[in-house]
Amino acid sequence: MTLQLVYRSILLLFLMCSIIVVDAAPLTDSSALQNMEHELNKKPLETYQRLLTQKSQIEEMSSYYKLWWLLRKAQAENLLYFFDKFEHTVNQGIESISQQTPARIIINFNIFRGLILQRQGRYQQSQTILKKAKQSARENKFTYLAVRAKQELAYTRSLTEVFELSLTELQQAYVEAFALNDEFLIAKINEVYGAIYGYMHDYKKSTEYYQKALMSYQRLEYPAHEVEAIYGLASTYRYWRKYELAIKYYQRYRKAIEFSPNNIDGKFYAAYGIAMSEAEQGKCNEALVSIETALNLKGLSDYKAELYKRKTQCLIKKNKLVAAKESLDKANDIFKAIPELMGTRWQIELLKIRAELASARGQNVKSYKLLKRFNQKEIELLKKNSSDRLLRVRSAMEVERQNVEISLLQQRAKVQELQFEQQKQKNTMQTYIISFVVMLIFFVLLFTHFQWRHNKKLVLISVRDPLTDTFNRRYVFNFLNKLINVHNSVRNTVSIMVIDIDDFKQVNDQYGHPFGDKVIREIAKIGGETIRAEDIIGRVGGEEFLCVLPRIDAVQGLHIAQRFVNKVNAYEFVGGDDHDNMKRVKVTVSIGIATTSDKLQSSSELYVEADKALYHAKYSGKNRAIQYQDSMQHTYQQETGFNTHDSTLNDKK
Ligand code: GH3
Ligand code: MG
Ligand code: MG
Repeated sequence: MTLQLVYRSILLLFLMCSIIVVDAAPLTDSSALQNMEHELNKKPLETYQRLLTQKSQIEEMSSYYKLWWLLRKAQAENLLYFFDKFEHTVNQGIESISQQTPARIIINFNIFRGLILQRQGRYQQSQTILKKAKQSARENKFTYLAVRAKQELAYTRSLTEVFELSLTELQQAYVEAFALNDEFLIAKINEVYGAIYGYMHDYKKSTEYYQKALMSYQRLEYPAHEVEAIYGLASTYRYWRKYELAIKYYQRYRKAIEFSPNNIDGKFYAAYGIAMSEAEQGKCNEALVSIETALNLKGLSDYKAELYKRKTQCLIKKNKLVAAKESLDKANDIFKAIPELMGTRWQIELLKIRAELASARGQNVKSYKLLKRFNQKEIELLKKNSSDRLLRVRSAMEVERQNVEISLLQQRAKVQELQFEQQKQKNTMQTYIISFVVMLIFFVLLFTHFQWRHNKKLVLISVRDPLTDTFNRRYVFNFLNKLINVHNSVRNTVSIMVIDIDDFKQVNDQYGHPFGDKVIREIAKIGGETIRAEDIIGRVGGEEFLCVLPRIDAVQGLHIAQRFVNKVNAYEFVGGDDHDNMKRVKVTVSIGIATTSDKLQSSSELYVEADKALYHAKYSGKNRAIQYQDSMQHTYQQETGFNTHDSTLNDKK
């Protein structure tokens, strides 16, 4: 009963622990894909390879699963700079879109599509599709995707120098990302801020934002994004004319892109950055080599236009005017193919370089005219981008942003405080429950322990003689019964001794009953010391003991009994109330011994034999041990007139 209680308590404890530890339900397949984003950002290459192992089965999967798979694959390819594959996968995904396709998937693909168009320099189309994605995300209340789309939109706009709109949009995106408390989104937006401030020539701010983004990416351990922030920093340092730092960061970039082997575009960007930095630093010898390296790599055309521009300038410097003209024409062709870039400072700069070339050719009038046109255009551009209004917008936005940050932080702190309180209450409750269960188990164990001890005591009481602390009559006879009544074939020799104190009535009479008790106790003690651990002694009558000696034959039995007699003889029983009135009394015992034999059938027969031997010992003068012999039957009958001794093996007391 008590054990059952213990088991139940332990079971309860386990149950409670499992409730505390229990986790979310197992993921289904497509949800594994849906939850892949973080893993993808963290380990793009491994995740990509894992995705590719499913390639052969993908056609057999549901279209829903296939779309998620394509989406994640595209994402990985984008992170790994596998831009051709990325484009292919995105197209595949868009083709697979049907009426049933969930909005979340479509929006994601549209953002990718916007990204591709942006990279191709098709900024208008990019903006259109990103706007669509943003609106759809808004309608469906997918804040995260809406912010992502907005952030990409802002970046695309900044590339066409529509800074004002771009900053406003980014500001809104930032507020939302902050409210979502999404570190990755915030970092993405900070990265775009870095880019836009860079384009606006506010390099200090630009590097600050890029550094913020880089720190977040490092914390998140997103290598592909880290690389982007490093690249942004390198470019800003280049625009800032801090070429040493720029080259340092481009080199760091070249190293960092190794997370994606076979990354051709990354290699191009690194080569481009280093070449541009060297050229702008005026180190034309190194620059021309680096520019050639970069031009030989596969890369974006507008970037190549920049390389051709620098190449032209270096060639002019080296007075290689024909080659310079060729290079300039190549740059010009590229700009012509990208209408969005018309009127940007990148395109306007062509006028300046053309003027430089004209000057080198000695065409001073032409050079002057070109330079004048360039200056006009540049002033227009500066007016457009650095107008007072824009400056005001910018500073107002910074202030607003700080205010928003403060109030959002306050709100978040409040929420955290509440959550903390809740958690505290939950913890206290759990502590109470656990303490309760532990206490319950403790008490159950304690109770069980006392019960056990009590039972043990009861057992002891039921087998012990209280006066001598030897076994009682019932126990000794039971013990003997069990020993003797074993099947004959396995039965060992057993001897027993019946011990009776001689003339004990006189002891009582002479020295008092208490002293008599003391003698009985001490005889019992001497008995216990005379026999082996496996033998037992018990008090079976007033001053009568029975010893059971398993595996002891007649000779050994007699020997032990004799030792007992001798020990008692040598012992002085001391009694008395005070020191002067000490009594030293000699007491003797008589012992009858009987041993099992083939003829002997039961324990009662054996006891009768021992009793006869005892009688014989008494009769022949006491203070001795006598072994039973068959001849004693006659003597016993002669002396007593009875057939057997009065005692039986059953406890009648
Ligand atoms: P014998 O040598 O023939 O044995 O003579 P005896 O006087 O010892 O005779 P018997 O064994 O018949 O007497 C037993 C006496 O032991 C009777 C009784 O007064 C005394 N006795 C029995 N139980 C106790 C006891 O618990 N304490 C004390 N002090 N005396 C007891
Ligand atoms: Mg007696
Ligand atoms: Mg006696």
